Amino acid sequence: MNEIGVGIIGTGFMGQAHALAYRAVAGVFPDILRPRLVAVADLHAEAARKAAARFGFEKISPDWQQLVQDPSLSIVSITTPNFSHREMALAAIAAGKHVHCEKPIAVSAADAKIMVEAAEAAGVVTQVGFNYLKNPLIKMAREMIASGELGEIFSFRGIHAEDFMADPNIPYSWRLDPNCGAGALADIGSHIISMARFLLGPIAEVNADLETVHKLRPAALGSSETRAVEVNDIARLNVAFKRGCHGSIEANWVATGRTMQLGFEIAGSQGALVFTQERFNELLYYKAGGNRRHTGFQRLEAGPEHDPYGLFCRAPGHQLGFNDLKTIEVADFLKAIAGGPAAGPDFREAWEIQKVIDTAVASSQERAWLVVS
Ligand code: NAD
Repeated sequence: MNEIGVGIIGTGFMGQAHALAYRAVAGVFPDILRPRLVAVADLHAEAARKAAARFGFEKISPDWQQLVQDPSLSIVSITTPNFSHREMALAAIAAGKHVHCEKPIAVSAADAKIMVEAAEAAGVVTQVGFNYLKNPLIKMAREMIASGELGEIFSFRGIHAEDFMADPNIPYSWRLDPNCGAGALADIGSHIISMARFLLGPIAEVNADLETVHKLRPAALGSSETRAVEVNDIARLNVAFKRGCHGSIEANWVATGRTMQLGFEIAGSQGALVFTQERFNELLYYKAGGNRRHTGFQRLEAGPEHDPYGLFCRAPGHQLGFNDLKTIEVADFLKAIAGGPAAGPDFREAWEIQKVIDTAVASSQERAWLVVS
């Protein structure tokens, strides 16, 4: 089996998720390129050292610039804050590496465009970390919609709500820096926008209202000094899909009590689907037209029939976990590098998602419906 060298930049939440996925993937997916964890880099040498020891990286690169030049690796995985994605990705592409980048791809559609053009000109494979699309039940939902099982789609109600910024004493960090992206809209809203596009296709127009709930936050943990917050805590979007139906999308990181409410309700003339990432091994399905005494939402359970669930576990109902979605994402990336079909989402799709984000920001400023161009 062919091996492929991987370098990971960043060792935080996503750095760990990527390292686990690259370690697991060859054990789960047969006949796939076998990743070798060659190098890791982090701003903090101690964090890189710990990650190397924990995940078995062969070496620690003193910085990301040296990592992307390393001839013994062919994949660069970028798991650092959003503002750094562009520079790192462009350097990795210039060095001929395939790039796996965390979402959102960049801080603006203009930056994303540059990244897409560079990757496509270099002919490298790209993958962006919209891992929730890798859920086999989401793939089935898409197939049900595409095959007409739900009939004509009337509406989409989507949300990504968490509460990790609900406490006003959470200090200022890169997620609140406007140079790092459009607040909750970019950070978690990008996930539900990616989901909406995956299920129903392009979003043509947006009318958005962005709100900053906590306008001041401690400048640092425990500090009495405060810093003004300019990015949104809640984004509410009305959207018009190119296919004709309308819908709503909310991104909210001050949603007290919610830890992972990435969800949607899709209603069509023949049926409806309801999903939440909080119970992501289930999909609620309503089939219209039955005997009213016996109808209602049916709970569909993930199992081996929902490819690739069976590669992780032979028994239905035992459930996939978050890191399994990342492993599926890495498998899709490796298959594309080996010449198979590109399942994405790639840089080009992430650019489309970024366009929706930028349009929503402009719409909120102008208080108007705007075309996603
Ligand atoms: P984090 O703060 O936990 O980790 C970031 C890491 O990057 C840290 O280890 C930091 O030291 C390192 N870093 C920063 N600048 C660096 C540089 N110049 N060189 C080397 N290392 C550097 O952040 P996180 O939560 O892992 O988020 C990172 C990225 O992942 C963001 O783009 C975020 O939006 C995305 N993310 C995606 C998901 C998902 O579900 N796909 C979930 C959370 C975060």
